[in-house]
Amino acid sequence: MHYDVIVIGAGHNGLTAATALAQSGRKVIVLEKRELAGGLAASEEFYPGFRTQGLLQETAGVRPSIITSLGLRNRGLQLRGEEAGSFVPEPDGPGVHLFRDAARFTSANPTLADEEKKAYHEFREFLGRITPFISTVLNQTPPPITDKGTEGAWTLLKTGISLRALGRDTLHELLRIGPMCVADFLNERFKSDALKVGLAAPSIHGTFLGPWSAGSVATFLLREAAASKSVVGGPAAVTRALLASASEAGVTLRMNAGVRRIRVSGGSVLGVALDNGENIDAMIVASACDPKRTFFQFLEPGNLPDSLSEQIRIIKMRGTTAAVRIALEKPLTFPGRPEMTPEEILTGKDIDSLEKAYDAVKYGEMSEVPHLAIKVPTLSELDLAPKDKHVAEVLVHFAPYHLKGGWNEAARNELGVRVFKVLAGYCPEFESSVIAKEILTPVDFEERYGLTEGHIHHGEHSLDQLHTLRPSVDTSRYRTPIEGLFLCGSGSHPGGGITCAPGAMAAEAIKNT
Ligand SMILES: Cc1cc2nc3c(=O)[nH]c(=O)nc-3n(C[C@H](O)[C@H](O)[C@H](O)COP(=O)(O)OP(=O)(O)OC[C@H]3O[C@@H](n4cnc5c(N)ncnc54)[C@H](O)[C@@H]3O)c2cc1C
Repeated sequence: MHYDVIVIGAGHNGLTAATALAQSGRKVIVLEKRELAGGLAASEEFYPGFRTQGLLQETAGVRPSIITSLGLRNRGLQLRGEEAGSFVPEPDGPGVHLFRDAARFTSANPTLADEEKKAYHEFREFLGRITPFISTVLNQTPPPITDKGTEGAWTLLKTGISLRALGRDTLHELLRIGPMCVADFLNERFKSDALKVGLAAPSIHGTFLGPWSAGSVATFLLREAAASKSVVGGPAAVTRALLASASEAGVTLRMNAGVRRIRVSGGSVLGVALDNGENIDAMIVASACDPKRTFFQFLEPGNLPDSLSEQIRIIKMRGTTAAVRIALEKPLTFPGRPEMTPEEILTGKDIDSLEKAYDAVKYGEMSEVPHLAIKVPTLSELDLAPKDKHVAEVLVHFAPYHLKGGWNEAARNELGVRVFKVLAGYCPEFESSVIAKEILTPVDFEERYGLTEGHIHHGEHSLDQLHTLRPSVDTSRYRTPIEGLFLCGSGSHPGGGITCAPGAMAAEAIKNT
């Protein structure tokens, strides 16, 4: 069978690219190694009767323009009316319930000092001025900066003009904070430790950065600029809508179809060879797998130009995240706010506790007191667990892929013990409510989901690996030096997270060939 385009991987980016291309008249097949579509955004049963919404938690990054262009709303995708907010508990206090909406933040935190609320309003107002500029940059294909043609020059000129349009004071402030560490940025504005933890924590998720690392403001702004409304039903609901849209557009989806090789002859793609020995032909192959897997595992070494091989070799993708899925008798409750059953929780005493949690990975160790990002999806999606029971999906920061001594059974158990200790410190009734747990280390991420070094974003988010440098100079516009081979996963601009953006931008690049 011959196809116009083969897409490798049925994660949200692969499905987005495939659907956009099929809608433009191409004959497209998606090949997925697992028996489940959705990649990291697939719902999985981890204990009889208990399911996750996906390995991921946050869906506020899905681009509204892509929801529209793929017709996802007509295929069941609904956006949440209100933010769930993230709750930062305090062992001896009311904690802080964080909302992007400053008015909602004020009413949700009646005991917080008035100066903090005022500072938060000003902070949101400042972000409201700069994030439209950042999201414009995130939503456009990086310009070809070294070409002599007009396209790159024009994009750079437009970016420069909109930067100047920010006005003198805002522009100066953006230039000042851009390379800063998020700890300094927040300490200049706030006093509340819980508030600073809630704001700083997402900027270090899936990075090799602590809040005192230079460049952590950039990852903070990246998330803020991508945030819109969350999807009802979480990552699994995004996958369901994408699958419906792909099927309607005529995409062929083959599960249990692992790709072993991308076949290349004379510098051009011929198609792929599957693990079962079958060949499928197409002049265009778009890989939604990470760049190291794509170039070092799918290609014969002789097909990779030396200069590109070196660019890919130096991409940093040191996995630092683990996950624990817990089946619970009751949702998580916190003595400081007995009336609340929060859906999203971020732990940490203060900024320095996040820094200490990060410190460990520099030395190949897991955090003594990890920072946890927890979601209790069963508060809004009842059918993920038996009646009145609950699920807690816990992302653990930091647990290095390259753990000293390796990830053996003892290390895995120790990770579970440390996570439970943190949770029990906030929720005294937690341990008596546990029915079962599953622990996934970064090595499990690699084995189960095909993530090189277990890296959740297919490559670290850091100043040296963003925009025209993602994943590398010669591949930052989705096209690669191998004729017909494209990248369409999170390793490409604008990076990881459930956004569908790399998939959509790669589809545009393919349409323009
Ligand atoms: C634990 C964890 C937590 C995260 N939390 C969040 C979060 O809360 N919010 C957020 O926005 N982002 C989060 N991320 C990051 C983000 O989700 C990823 O950047 C993104 O999901 C990757 O999507 P993708 O479509 O690019 O690739 P993937 O979802 O990785 O899809 C690639 C697909 O390729 C398949 N594949 C692999 N090898 C082969 C092969 N040989 N042949 C065929 N198919 C193959 C895989 O099975 C997979 O289905 C998280 C990631 C992880 C791991």
